[in-house]
Amino acid sequence: MTTTRFAPSPTGYLHIGNLRTALFNYLITAQAGGTFILRLDDTDPARSKDEYADGIKQDLAWLGLNWDRIERQSDRLARYEEAAQELRDSGRLYECFETPVELDLKRKKQLNMKLPPVYDRSALELSKDEKDALRAERGAGHWRFKLDRERINWKDSILGKLSIDAASVSDPVLIRGDGQFLYTLASVCDDVDYGVSHVVRGSDHVTNTAVQIQIIQALGGDIPTFAHHSLLTGPQGEALSKRLGTLALRDLRDQGIAPLALLSQMARIGSSKPVELATSLDEIIAGFDLASFGAAPTKFDAEDLFPLTAKHLAGLEFDAVSDDIAALGVPADMAEAFWNVARENITVMADLEGWWALCRDGATPDIADEDAEFVAEALTMLPDGPYNDESWGAWTAAVKGATGRKGRGLFMPLRKALTGMKHGPDMSKLLPLLQVIQAKG
Ligand code: GLU
Repeated sequence: MTTTRFAPSPTGYLHIGNLRTALFNYLITAQAGGTFILRLDDTDPARSKDEYADGIKQDLAWLGLNWDRIERQSDRLARYEEAAQELRDSGRLYECFETPVELDLKRKKQLNMKLPPVYDRSALELSKDEKDALRAERGAGHWRFKLDRERINWKDSILGKLSIDAASVSDPVLIRGDGQFLYTLASVCDDVDYGVSHVVRGSDHVTNTAVQIQIIQALGGDIPTFAHHSLLTGPQGEALSKRLGTLALRDLRDQGIAPLALLSQMARIGSSKPVELATSLDEIIAGFDLASFGAAPTKFDAEDLFPLTAKHLAGLEFDAVSDDIAALGVPADMAEAFWNVARENITVMADLEGWWALCRDGATPDIADEDAEFVAEALTMLPDGPYNDESWGAWTAAVKGATGRKGRGLFMPLRKALTGMKHGPDMSKLLPLLQVIQAKG
């Protein structure tokens, strides 16, 4: 039974890096017919906001990445306390009183002596009286998990065999002095209690995984299968971490990126398989393979999403967009013809507005001086509408006969006179939709 979780903290909106994690978990779960849990890691009351939790749900829903279950860590504080007590009882959780400044000083000293900056466990030496005194002086301490100082090994589904020496890692703080449970404890409890079988997340979590494996063992849970995907970089390999704020999923949505374009790209970049536009989420599920991903950082270029979106839109049948076309104000009797003319000529849906404005209002003609006479003559030969599919061919044939112009010299000035543009849809299809031809005066 495959159970996965996507576990964002509701301290901001989802960005492209989160999406990679969400999507991979979603896809392997869908392939296995398992349970995909959306878990809100909201144990930090100061930073977690309902607005972000709602935003996360909206963004996933926009992409069609539906969760089977939703859980909030803030609902489970009693359970985390129980687990903490279990760890205290087994001697794995110990109270420490160092201030951040003291810890920093220790680290600097270790680094000066060329030692790894690992917490020295001096709190373990404190007697009960010393702890009482420190508690009276500084308030409640924070609690660290006592790692077994041995190598932690696992087979990662993406990175292969991994081995981390726990002696090179500081005992992790699980509970802060103010009583707040930190991510590590909460996450492990949840993974154990919910029977999470597969954990896919970014490679920035590799050390966390080592630590979590020991905590899971200390709590008597089953170790999930772990997979750590590489982190995204910008197109030139530059770190994306600082720019992720500008790559929020809602911003991509506002720019008109199609969900299938985004999902198609994210399910493939960084893998040995080519990026191909899928026509459905099911197709993406069927073609996904975690083992095809490599460890190297993955280049992501948001610009690539535009041609994929354009291709997606060009492939949509009228039924899929009829509401959008109606909302533009296109009369029902020409809506389908309008879509069929426009769909190959848009990058995002918002581009339809320009095409509809052209049909409805006409365009400012673009007529080069050397073509002015030719265009004027041609326009006298253009019959009044309504036009049909044959009108453009019949008109340009007549103009050709009268003027002797042919090819580009014939068609381009007429296109520019009627549309104000050098490029655009097939004129024989567009002409019947032009309700106003400004060039005719
Ligand atoms: N809330 C954690 C994060 O966003 C979850 C990490 C995990 O998948 O365990 O980094």
